[in-house]
Amino acid sequence: MRTKWVKSLGRAVLDVLLPPQCLLCEQVVEAPGQFCVECFCEVSFVSAPFCPRCAVPLAYANQAIHGVCPRCATAPPVWRQARAALRYDAQSKRLILPFKHADRTDLAGPLAAMMVRAGADVLAGADLLVPVPLHPSRLRARRYNQAVLLARQIARRTHVELFPDALVRLRATAPLGELGAVARAEAVAHLFAPRRGAGMRLAGQNVVLIDDVLTSGATATECCLALQAAGAAQVDLLVAARVPDPRLR
Ligand SMILES: [Zn+2]
Ligand SMILES: [Zn+2]
Repeated sequence: MRTKWVKSLGRAVLDVLLPPQCLLCEQVVEAPGQFCVECFCEVSFVSAPFCPRCAVPLAYANQAIHGVCPRCATAPPVWRQARAALRYDAQSKRLILPFKHADRTDLAGPLAAMMVRAGADVLAGADLLVPVPLHPSRLRARRYNQAVLLARQIARRTHVELFPDALVRLRATAPLGELGAVARAEAVAHLFAPRRGAGMRLAGQNVVLIDDVLTSGATATECCLALQAAGAAQVDLLVAARVPDPRLR
């Protein structure tokens, strides 16, 4: 605990003394939390055209069927709308993976700023921000829940109320990693429940569910079903990065 405190103090002192660096390289930038010009050009932000239901980037607008991607046209998600800041690719992994697994909690602010921009329309009508929970055993090992850090930073920037422990994760699961969509859905079935008494705060509310990466949507689906069961009026999804659909190139 003490070393962690000294380390973060050290970083804060260095932040004041040294000029701010690009989020992805050593280039000096104007303000902390920015990309340099070269890295900015290489990062793929999710911008139009994308599917409004699942935030998957589309290569061309005419890949959409009635305004959504082919997958959402045949099997619409249980949530209303989804937004993502970044395409999950080699560049954004250089932000997401250290944030998630290597204690780079300082990246929560810059990532949240990108999420606020990408999710401006869904955040405008939101009452509550709910992060996807970790199982307590995973939380002990990692020491922080990356979705909570993002949600807290988004709440700070938007003044939408944060409800960090609205959901509980009922069992620990192995990392979903390379599992396919069907195996993912099976691994997370009935994995989440509203915390006891959470229904009082969730009932009738417009909730934005927050997570770091959206892959098959299996985890978000289960969280959304738990929020709807607790009485949430509407659930939207906002993530830092969206795994693209290889069929939509
Ligand atoms: Zn750079
Ligand atoms: Zn879609």
